[in-house]
Amino acid sequence: MAAINRVLLNKLFKDEQQHFIAMHPRSLELFQRAKRSLHRGVPMNWLTKWASDFPIFVKEAAGAHFIDVDGHRYLDLCLGDSGAMTGHAPTATVKAVINQLRRGITFMLPIEDGIWVGEELAHRFGLPYWQIAMTATDANRFAIRLARQITGRKLILVFNWNYHGTVDETLITLTNGIAGPRRGNIGPPVNPAMTTRVIEFNDIDALESALCTRDVACVLNEQALANSGIVIPKPGYHDTLPEITRRTDTLLIIDETHTICTGLGGYTRAFGLQPDMLTLGKPIASGVPAAAYGFTAEVTEKIRAQTSVGDSDTSGIGGTLSGNALSLVAIRATLQHVLTPAAYEKMIALTERFVKGVSSVIKELDLPWNVQHLGCRAEYWFRRTAASNGAEAAAAVDLELDRYMHLATLNRGTLMTPFHNMALISPQTTAKDIDCHTQVFGEIVEVLVR
Ligand code: PMP
Repeated sequence: MAAINRVLLNKLFKDEQQHFIAMHPRSLELFQRAKRSLHRGVPMNWLTKWASDFPIFVKEAAGAHFIDVDGHRYLDLCLGDSGAMTGHAPTATVKAVINQLRRGITFMLPIEDGIWVGEELAHRFGLPYWQIAMTATDANRFAIRLARQITGRKLILVFNWNYHGTVDETLITLTNGIAGPRRGNIGPPVNPAMTTRVIEFNDIDALESALCTRDVACVLNEQALANSGIVIPKPGYHDTLPEITRRTDTLLIIDETHTICTGLGGYTRAFGLQPDMLTLGKPIASGVPAAAYGFTAEVTEKIRAQTSVGDSDTSGIGGTLSGNALSLVAIRATLQHVLTPAAYEKMIALTERFVKGVSSVIKELDLPWNVQHLGCRAEYWFRRTAASNGAEAAAAVDLELDRYMHLATLNRGTLMTPFHNMALISPQTTAKDIDCHTQVFGEIVEVLVR
């Protein structure tokens, strides 16, 4: 079995850093200037979370590629961490957006395309009623509020090392079995252990005991964990989960924001799940800010009975720009012309090619690593077997190795997501792109272990 020589790893990483700096004089210049007006030199805090000393500045992007300000062209396997899972600037969405830009962006009034969007979401995900939000974070926040309101229960339940956006109640992890604020959770309003129960994914016994007290409003669930590496549910997990939530009158909220990679109607449709509520965001408008949340007829009736239209503008649910015309036409164009059955078929086949390629390198070099995938999302792991929950996933993180892999891959023309080792395949990605990545992966791992 090949072992990682840490001294060599550090040396290789330093070489990659120097190479990166030499290759990106214009990005460096812009970063130096940006630091004078933007906190940490970036418009949003986690745009610094790259293995390089500074982020590359993008000039333009199309399909599965982007060009940086130094003129380098990259294969993009990060795709805006799912926001651009559609490929960058898909023609149909761009056309619809430009057309709407000329006709008005936001009105505080509905447009007809919104009805098409509601109908299509209902058709894809099997829930009859929908609302539009700006981000998946907001969709989750609103779904949680509604769940609390209609159940009259205060607590929610999430899974260890979940990520559902910047929702206060969800930024919680288990440390030695004790629930508390997630590492790096900035200024939590209260200890999230006061609002939230957290258990390990795939642990049915823990689920049973967390819900049997009948004081939990909702379970916020990712069908397969996709934010701590891909953690696949055990057989039967999604049969037992709704059985327990129903028996305990707990609402089941399914967050499809990442698992929409599974297929046309996300994991829900692919595996016939029946949530009470469902949330999603990121790619549904090709990266134009938009999200959606849907619910059953029963939930809709309860919401109707327990909320007032008169106070709807200050209810804690909403947002001036939510449901704006631009977002709606972008969702429509994306669902109608970009995230189509044919696109998914292609993306999933290419993801299987990615898995095959990376697995063959792992096997050839006898590395104790594995590759997981879900739909058009794949991830290589620095552990021999698949992780079965968030704790195992977190324990497998090897930051030094992550950073080397990301930077060495980037220096050879491919961008991975900055969080763990995830690759996302768009409808515009090609077999040649995948094979290029496999070759690069092989090269950079080989120098490390041979
Ligand atoms: N849900 C899931 C499953 C996510 O992965 C994310 C973001 N990674 C969100 C919600 C929040 O999305 P946003 O940051 O766009 O609000």
